[in-house]
Amino acid sequence: MFESELAILGEGVAFGPGRIDTLGAEVVARAGAPARVLLVADAGVAAAGLTTAAETSLADAGVTVRIFTDVRSDPLAAQIDAAAQAARDLNADLIVGLGGGSAVDVAKMAAGVASGSAPAESYALQCDPFGENVLPIIAVPTTAGTGAEMTQSMVFTAGSGAKLWSDAGNLRPVLALLDPELTVSLPAHLTAATGIDALVHAMESATSHRTKPQTHAPALAAIRLIRRYLPVAVREPTNVEARSAMIIAAALAGRAIDSGGTTIAHALGHALGAVGHVHHGRSVGLSLRVALPGNAEAAPGPHAEVARAFGMEGSSDTDLASALPAAYDAFLREVGLRIDVADSGLTPEDAERLAGEAMKPENAPMRKATLRPIEQPEMLGLARVLLAAT
Ligand SMILES: [Zn+2]
Repeated sequence: MFESELAILGEGVAFGPGRIDTLGAEVVARAGAPARVLLVADAGVAAAGLTTAAETSLADAGVTVRIFTDVRSDPLAAQIDAAAQAARDLNADLIVGLGGGSAVDVAKMAAGVASGSAPAESYALQCDPFGENVLPIIAVPTTAGTGAEMTQSMVFTAGSGAKLWSDAGNLRPVLALLDPELTVSLPAHLTAATGIDALVHAMESATSHRTKPQTHAPALAAIRLIRRYLPVAVREPTNVEARSAMIIAAALAGRAIDSGGTTIAHALGHALGAVGHVHHGRSVGLSLRVALPGNAEAAPGPHAEVARAFGMEGSSDTDLASALPAAYDAFLREVGLRIDVADSGLTPEDAERLAGEAMKPENAPMRKATLRPIEQPEMLGLARVLLAAT
């Protein structure tokens, strides 16, 4: 199943329904025996029993485990510091991050922070590189979206409330363990939002100033899988073929952003998350929806490639690119993503605030990677359209 897509992912990935049962063996293969592991998991994921199989597999392999579950969505720097301290106290050999992107990001950051004495915030925006002795990380996603299991970057929240990121090659997980059965309990609206996050990763990385030759194969394979299987995963949550396709697609899209990065939808989407507390996947999905017409017009070639992977047909790049925004909008609606943001409490009056947040320096790398210039007036226009959307 999905051999060609798994071949694109290459090494550092273990996939299969029930694969979580091999976690203990994977740890021992990398850390030796007897190993000591900090298991970082979302509290909700632990409460749902999703850590049980991991703990059993680790215990059966003779691994000493301490579990750390103080992880919220958009994790706090203080939580990373606490996880790093737990790793030091345990004298951990390896950190496992099990959960959504937040748990995996905390595991990655904690592995870096634990190797030094400075707090997490001092590593933000690459101010301070991590040392060489970071702990190896195994990532076990329980959503199919963020791709954090494949990347060397992390997003977290400062004590001031600012969203920060950090980036370091030695914090890319040594193994992404992809078990689709861990995602079957995800409710439809989160299946849709996280799947759209993966789609946006794939589309943005393929249409960025930072796009590299190695970006295209994983990005376009992810788009093909998501177009076909996300609606199935939303309709039939226990369909393991669809869940398999989506967990592979999210990893492919993660591999794609690791080389190609993200663009405007992640700049504006992070702002929408900050000011309106809208779920990350929905935020970036709605942001790309308003940015796509201008993006496609400015760069028809790359957008025509995306359109073909999205199943659209036509010989003219310009025609394909100009038809992509409508097809993308229809797909968001097909998977049930809510388009209006009334539930966030935001109105078109908040456009200045939203655009101001999106123009902040921490969002500049993504904004500037877009294949057209986006300065304040354009951002304000996008924010207005987003907040008025129905
Ligand atoms: Zn994202």
